Amino acid sequence: MVNVVCSKFNSDRGRLIDILLDIQSTARHISEEAIEEVASALGIHRVEVEGVVTFYSFFSQTPKGRVAIRLCDDIIDRHAGAEAVGQVFSEALGIGYGQTSTDGRFSLDKTACIGMSDQAPAALINNEVAPSLTPDTARRIALRLVQGMPPESLFEDFGDGNNSHPLIRSAVNNNIRLIGDILLAGDIESGKGLERAFALTPERVVEEISGSGLRGRGGAGFPTGKKLALARAFPAQRRFVICNADEGEPGTFKDRVLLTERAELLFDGMTIAAYAIGASEGILYLRAEYSYLRGYLEEILARRRASGLLGGEIHGSKGFGFDIRIQMGAGAYICGEESALISSCEGLRGEPKNRPPFPVEKGYLGYPTVVNNVETLCNISRIMERGGAWFASYGTGQSAGTKLLSVSGDCGKPGVYEAPFGLRVRELLEMVEADNPAIVQVGGPSGAMIGKVDFDRRICFEDLPTGGAVMVFGARRNALKIVDAFLEFFIDESCGYCTPCRVGNVFLQERIQKIMNGFGETGDMDYLESLSRTITATSRCGLGATSSRPVTSSIQQFPLVYASLTKEPKDGLHAGFDIQRGLEISRKIARRQSMIYDRRYGEEDGQA
Ligand code: SF4
Repeated sequence: MVNVVCSKFNSDRGRLIDILLDIQSTARHISEEAIEEVASALGIHRVEVEGVVTFYSFFSQTPKGRVAIRLCDDIIDRHAGAEAVGQVFSEALGIGYGQTSTDGRFSLDKTACIGMSDQAPAALINNEVAPSLTPDTARRIALRLVQGMPPESLFEDFGDGNNSHPLIRSAVNNNIRLIGDILLAGDIESGKGLERAFALTPERVVEEISGSGLRGRGGAGFPTGKKLALARAFPAQRRFVICNADEGEPGTFKDRVLLTERAELLFDGMTIAAYAIGASEGILYLRAEYSYLRGYLEEILARRRASGLLGGEIHGSKGFGFDIRIQMGAGAYICGEESALISSCEGLRGEPKNRPPFPVEKGYLGYPTVVNNVETLCNISRIMERGGAWFASYGTGQSAGTKLLSVSGDCGKPGVYEAPFGLRVRELLEMVEADNPAIVQVGGPSGAMIGKVDFDRRICFEDLPTGGAVMVFGARRNALKIVDAFLEFFIDESCGYCTPCRVGNVFLQERIQKIMNGFGETGDMDYLESLSRTITATSRCGLGATSSRPVTSSIQQFPLVYASLTKEPKDGLHAGFDIQRGLEISRKIARRQSMIYDRRYGEEDGQA
């Protein structure tokens, strides 16, 4: 089987992720033997294959169930009742998290955000999405699975819009709540933006996009026209356009809606970008969690090839050819970082690369590469269709256009909002019918955590930039539990390359938990802030540079929460040092039990 899969991809080392995905899907795991066989077929060392297998969460070295359930475990899902849902699956299938049933039918795992925070709690059942779960629906689903129903036949009520398309047939809902003038308004006529682009020279296309003021929608806001100009300027025989459809930031899901409803706009945008920089090859990097969209997207690509909008020579382009392939991800948040994403497209571990050189100079396979996310590329298409000046007439001084927001959490109307840049957080909270909001996380875990005093701030690059996620937390939520959950996420998702990120976030989490557990001391905030500065300054990529933001934002925004949980050390003794807890590891090794520990922490904690 392994040799057949390798041959399917011409034993191309660069397609290692696809090869491993195929093996995982067929054999439900990637065994030692399979690793050896892949290495031999590709002519590489087995350690290289093993390094990739162990990097991505969708690969497993032990067999997963024929039905693999992955329950989303982000903070929004936890607040929405994921634990109770998981309990039901666990009891009904007779397995705990990380286990596979002895008959090999089922496995149950927790997973990071699957891009469904507006319909939490949600789970993936193989490639099917099970949104808006309750203990009751989970029980019914589990019963049907036990009766032998295949996951693809579980859902008869499909979601809205193209979610009900025969090639998608998903229970997911778009939840489009606010339609703006640029991306979500009106019908899309494919090829419209392309037509106008081809009437111009590539240089003029770059000028038009630069003049529009479009900035990358991933959050950093790099000017898109400048990125295209740089990639165009470096002499090279090949150039690439990559669409980053790996929105793994917890709470982000708006690109999923664009992929579902605006795929033509996206592929137009990729083709225009390719024309502008002189690229003939494009890659759509689709996150594994969105596998259910793949067949639909492949069909659109095939249709575009048939109608001359992709392929050897695109209509009206005077000899310009361009095609797009879909590269599936395999479950790694860090692959949203552009150089890590390029590594992943090359069949490597998704580790960020040193910069410079930047991808516009030396990117995919060492050639100039433009990486933009779905929203940015859709905007390119609209700019060419309606003009840069039209686009620039929306938004604020440094933030042209509109911004798609993925709103989730404690609100009556979670979903996707195409908001004008400059919208105040307070206005957004009213729109989404927030439930007594006390904390808003703008930009996902790596963004800013703000409290009521900052609700008049504006969402735009000048004030509160965001890649799209806006998480709303009501007054009943515990700020430190949220910080703890975000740190847990970064610890799990760190690629481990640099020590400050790999270890520093663990230390941050330990100190936050110490405070949460009632052992906080006044010096802890200084420690947290100083360690946060070190991690930010010494980490190699954006994950480490931003992972401590939940800590620093919460200290700044909620000083009273920290003050209420910390006290001055007494007589030079550290409140956080608990000798009984400290001895617990050695007790476990020695199989001894402490009665003091039992009395203080309860029977379960005290078990030797
Ligand atoms: Fe990896 Fe973290 Fe270093 Fe980024 S900062 S390269 S995620 S260890």
